[in-house]
Amino acid sequence: MSEVPTSVFVISAPSGAGKTSLCRRLVAEVEHLRFSTSHTTRAPREDEIDGADYHFIDKARFQAMIQDKQFAEWAQIHENYYGTAKSELTAAEEHGDDLLLDIEGQGAQQIRETWPDSVHIFITVPSLEVLRRRLTERNTNSEEEIDRRVANAKREIAFMPQYDFVVVNDDLDEALAALKSIVLAERRRTRRVLPALPEDLRP
Ligand code: 5GP
Repeated sequence: MSEVPTSVFVISAPSGAGKTSLCRRLVAEVEHLRFSTSHTTRAPREDEIDGADYHFIDKARFQAMIQDKQFAEWAQIHENYYGTAKSELTAAEEHGDDLLLDIEGQGAQQIRETWPDSVHIFITVPSLEVLRRRLTERNTNSEEEIDRRVANAKREIAFMPQYDFVVVNDDLDEALAALKSIVLAERRRTRRVLPALPEDLRP
């Protein structure tokens, strides 16, 4: 196990804010940043891979994991369950990695209670019009689904004040640069750098 403590980064966003692509690029481009693969009861989308995008499980198994206290946080969204297994955090600690959680507001609140030092970032869109357009361009979503996602987006936006940082995703590269700068700055906190310094250089 690394002597430098793991940092937990929480990223939330209304659906359509570009969170998934930003998170993918962030973990690909920043060393020692691991994506937390959540468990969910929702059905996989066409391009999703079990064990990579999510661990897809049924409701009975999810409920058994809740009973066993295996989740660091979990939430019910639409008619499905989503949760972060505690084992994701243990694995990150064992590898000396930081962990990136792509979760929604209720789960983020639970993480804040358990890990007060976690860093919470909210990604948002420049306008509701842009959000609607992005959701319409995703041809996997029906009109009814889009309306539901816009309503959910508004609900998600209500959680914004509890986040430490807000990144407006107008331009993907700029938003990615902002996310990287947050991660890199967090890694330079005294409490993180100090334990890694040679003993004769510590105060
Ligand atoms: P989707 O079904 O579009 O993949 O995700 C729907 C919402 O669930 C997104 O806001 C996503 O961030 C959230 N989500 C994904 N995994 C988790 C999780 O483990 N816990 C919580 N609380 N939310 C999650």
